[in-house]
Amino acid sequence: MVLRLSKLFLRTLREDPADAEVASHRLLVRAGYIRRAAPGIYTWLPLGLSVLRKVEQVIREEMTAIGAQEVHFPALLPKEPYEATNRWTEYGDGIFRLKDRKGNDYLLAPTHEEMFTLLVKDLYSSYKDLPLSIYQIQNKYRDEARPRAGLLRGREFIMKDSYSFDVDDAGLDASYAAHRGAYLKIFERLGLEVIPVAATAGAMGGSKSEEFLHPTEIGEDTFVRSAGGYAANVEAVTTVVPADIDFSDAPAGEVRDTPDTPTIDTLVDAANALAPRSEADGGAWTAADTLKNVVLAVTLPTGERQIVVIGVPGDRGVDLKRVEATIGSFLPIAGEITIEAASEEDLKKQPLIVKGYLGPGLSLHAALLGTRGAAKLLYLVDPRVVSGSAWVTGANEAGKHVFGLVAGRDFGWDGVIEATEVRAGDEAPDGSGPLETARGIEMGHIFQLGRKYAEAMDLKVLDQNGKQVIVTMGSYGVGVTRAVAALAESNHDDKGLIWPRAVAPADVHVVAVGRGEEIFATAEKLSLELEAAGLDVIYDDRPKVSPGVKFGDAELVGVPTILAVGRGLVDGVVEIKDRRSGTAENIAVDKAVDYVVNAVRNS
Ligand code: ATP
Ligand code: MG
Repeated sequence: MVLRLSKLFLRTLREDPADAEVASHRLLVRAGYIRRAAPGIYTWLPLGLSVLRKVEQVIREEMTAIGAQEVHFPALLPKEPYEATNRWTEYGDGIFRLKDRKGNDYLLAPTHEEMFTLLVKDLYSSYKDLPLSIYQIQNKYRDEARPRAGLLRGREFIMKDSYSFDVDDAGLDASYAAHRGAYLKIFERLGLEVIPVAATAGAMGGSKSEEFLHPTEIGEDTFVRSAGGYAANVEAVTTVVPADIDFSDAPAGEVRDTPDTPTIDTLVDAANALAPRSEADGGAWTAADTLKNVVLAVTLPTGERQIVVIGVPGDRGVDLKRVEATIGSFLPIAGEITIEAASEEDLKKQPLIVKGYLGPGLSLHAALLGTRGAAKLLYLVDPRVVSGSAWVTGANEAGKHVFGLVAGRDFGWDGVIEATEVRAGDEAPDGSGPLETARGIEMGHIFQLGRKYAEAMDLKVLDQNGKQVIVTMGSYGVGVTRAVAALAESNHDDKGLIWPRAVAPADVHVVAVGRGEEIFATAEKLSLELEAAGLDVIYDDRPKVSPGVKFGDAELVGVPTILAVGRGLVDGVVEIKDRRSGTAENIAVDKAVDYVVNAVRNS
């Protein structure tokens, strides 16, 4: 195919769009691939659509290769299935809801577990029908709190979502492994580096889950890895828990006056001044000896506020994203929550909390427990707060701390939570060495859903013994539009995009530079010959556009090979540029087609 720039529906822009924070957003808009229609909602122009279709095609081929079959669901869906799984409520403000003329509730699908489950339930009833994997490449709608970075976090975006249906756990393991393998192939073919990391299941529920993260500074996910091969999203990292300590001989806790010590630093200084600790007892006090009690407010899907106090070693901050991922099991209701530091308003309703001197001592804990029903207070601790560990912590009176408050003897808790920040140098939970941290973009996510959705929607089949069994499911997503953005992000320079061959909107960009009739005639002829050789060609045939603008556009648009027909023609040569290496060579006109065909085949 030859796309002629004189006809192509394309306007490149010299200026960066005002709202563009990242290179992919800037360049995709400037090079005429996408246009913003509304915040987080984009229109696809011909060049963009061409890249998008190529990404989709790679995904389709790898899905077909594992035996998954393509279907297509509506994006506009009735409320009822989402009520059956409670996600109509759980999604909170995260989805778009609407009503039809009769007043019935609908939503724009944020993901399709319910619909796939119902479809299989409609049509299948025996173990003989399974395993089954079906997928679609379809629009998803999420009213993201912070749509950002163009296609990277949209409110309308395209996802490839597949779902597997198996009669038993071994079947689910096999379907999961097949998808995992397919995902690695997809990203390899696209030329997008990804690292599979252990993940938390989040709003989806279910058990085993991994994310495929593309490492980049602009990513919103933080992950860790060890030299020994452990890799996990920071939300899924588990703490190496110290052993319980025998406290039968531990001295009683002692309340001390520690005036003006509302922060950990001031407390540590005061502790070392007032009650210096001998080397034999552990040496100078440090922040790690203190128990900091952080007061958070969780807004539940119902709008209610739940106060949660989390006790953590004083040398560690609380990571709210980790809390968000792990606190679900302690809350009275599942669904989308927001977590923030408790406000003055919240604290006013908790007269027992003395700011800066809060501690979990028995008297307070008993009091808190007593008020919990009314004031909804929950006390959780970091896994390092093991039975027998002794702490310096608030005495619940201004200017006073307790020294030697022993966990399990002097205070208890409602639960243990992974809440503290994970730091570079922390031990990997599997003992594979110290962790390093990095940032990434989530490109794909695979989940073993198990029986949660099948149970909610009553999807059962008859097993070999004629018994009704609940089907076990997996759910697997790839962000297709996000992949286009990530590819642009990882393949550009200051002049423009530089597409990997697998997804470039064309194989070669032919530029006629100058005015001579012969230049245009030769460029036209080469374009047609390249097309005949099976390549996709963009041909800049615009008659009155300067060489500078033409080269600028070619570099911006990012086709990997640029063939310029210009001044060299008098000597019988054209210039062929490799956009990636930046190298250019003069090649005889009659060798040019072969040269380009080889370049395309060999890269
Ligand atoms: P994120 O944590 O980035 O919000 P998610 O975990 O909510 O994503 P999933 O429900 O796992 O997303 O969706 C599967 C895939 O769809 C993700 O791995 C990602 O590639 C893509 N995706 C999710 N949300 C968006 C979005 N707002 N814009 C573009 N792609 C998205
Ligand atoms: Mg995800």
